[in-house]
Amino acid sequence: MSLFAQYDPQNIFAKILSGDIPSARVYEDARILSFMDAFPQSRGHTLVIPKVPASNLFDIPAEDLQNLITQTQTIGRAVREALAPDGIRIAQFNGAAAGQTVFHIHFHIIPVWEGENEHPHAAGTMSDLNELKDIAAQIKAKL
Ligand code: AMP
Repeated sequence: MSLFAQYDPQNIFAKILSGDIPSARVYEDARILSFMDAFPQSRGHTLVIPKVPASNLFDIPAEDLQNLITQTQTIGRAVREALAPDGIRIAQFNGAAAGQTVFHIHFHIIPVWEGENEHPHAAGTMSDLNELKDIAAQIKAKL
């Protein structure tokens, strides 16, 4: 999907927000939702999305973006506390050409351990929801 396409209210993350598709939730408030990536690149791969409908970084109002990155910092700290990785990658893609596969803006929080290979982006098999909920609970406990 192009960088200029209209927001699709039927996208997967809109359905996660509405509860039509299940997710392993880490945190929710009036403005954001955080949940575990179902095809994790590493253990603890967490997503943070705004509730405002915006496809990418260029569509979202600046105030919502500021809140989103601040919340990504807070949840990233909880991931760091809970899982003690060697590093954490924060990623965000805009447009299919740049690697975006779900067109509702989100930040990835990807824990990295030295010597451990990550799975490729947006590929592989879906993780078991109960296993993801266990990790979500560990992160939540540090918030
Ligand atoms: P991006 O490619 O940056 O748009 O990231 C989209 C992310 O959503 C990928 O890392 C996918 O693994 C993840 N994803 C796709 N479907 C689901 C789902 N049903 N629940 C949780 N994460 C998902």
